Amino acid sequence: MKNLDLSSEPIPLPINDRLALTVIFNRKLRIIPKLDTEAGYRYPEAEEIFGLSDQETIEKLEHLSKLGFFERAYYITLLKCLSCGGFKMLLVLRCPKCNSPNILKGSVLRHYKCGLDGFEEEFIKEGAYICPRCNTNLDKPGVDFKKIGVWYKCLKCGEFFGEPLEKLYCFKCDKEFLKEDCVLQPVWGYDINENRLKNVILDIELETVKKYLEEQWNVELFSKVKGDSGIEHMFTFRIFTKNPLSDEVVVDVEYSKSPISQDVVMKLFAKKVDVFAVDSVLIAIPRLEDGARRLSDRYGIKVIEVESLKDAIEPLKEIVKRVLR
Ligand SMILES: [Zn+2]
Ligand SMILES: [Zn+2]
Ligand SMILES: [Zn+2]
Repeated sequence: MKNLDLSSEPIPLPINDRLALTVIFNRKLRIIPKLDTEAGYRYPEAEEIFGLSDQETIEKLEHLSKLGFFERAYYITLLKCLSCGGFKMLLVLRCPKCNSPNILKGSVLRHYKCGLDGFEEEFIKEGAYICPRCNTNLDKPGVDFKKIGVWYKCLKCGEFFGEPLEKLYCFKCDKEFLKEDCVLQPVWGYDINENRLKNVILDIELETVKKYLEEQWNVELFSKVKGDSGIEHMFTFRIFTKNPLSDEVVVDVEYSKSPISQDVVMKLFAKKVDVFAVDSVLIAIPRLEDGARRLSDRYGIKVIEVESLKDAIEPLKEIVKRVLR
């Protein structure tokens, strides 16, 4: 059993951040970016959980990473406009010699005798290869002529080149840039750092509950149980007696800023049936939607609605006492 020293680490976070992190933890979420032509990238799931704008959410995720609550995982690198910081850019091709956008791509032949380089179709006349400059018949590949691959040709200055000049056009500020002049923007995914989170956010309260229940029963925190279906389910708590054939009570704790929906009730019900638990309890912090409460009645799921987890200890003990001995 872990040592419970409630005074050891001060909680540096406002309650809203704690709640959001707890929701992310409970849903086992990995915060991944969604690429977006307007914003470049954003984190819609996290925006909803934190209740912040796209930009504020990015700042929040960065801030919480610096505090150690998230580990950043490299996701992708984007190019950002040097001038306006926007991401809405299009790749445009230009002649490296005269900067004209008027270029063609094609397979190019070289006639050795006269030195002409030209697109293959310019050499084809009545089914044969004939040099358009010197009118010679080109019979032997490798001797008379060779294919020098796919090239680009500028229709303005006539230059052939292997690689066109790649520039990025910004829709937002209507300017063009060389790729190398654009700014690199690394984009991260965020994985919750369970150790850091548990110690500072959840453990204190969940461990307190565990400690109280352990006076009478065996209690597992974040217990994983394989169901009859073969699927592994996680419960916030699993409570059972020392008897190896003991019945068990499964408990989930749900935190949410908005009232908790029916989905949560249905999920717990499905898990409970799959693991043959004798009873199930949903601790809703702070409360359930009315529909969700009715549904839990019908499914026989006990509900405890409380402002803080500590308030759930006594009602939970009462429920468990009636089922396990
Ligand atoms: Zn721009
Ligand atoms: Zn040119
Ligand atoms: Zn020729």
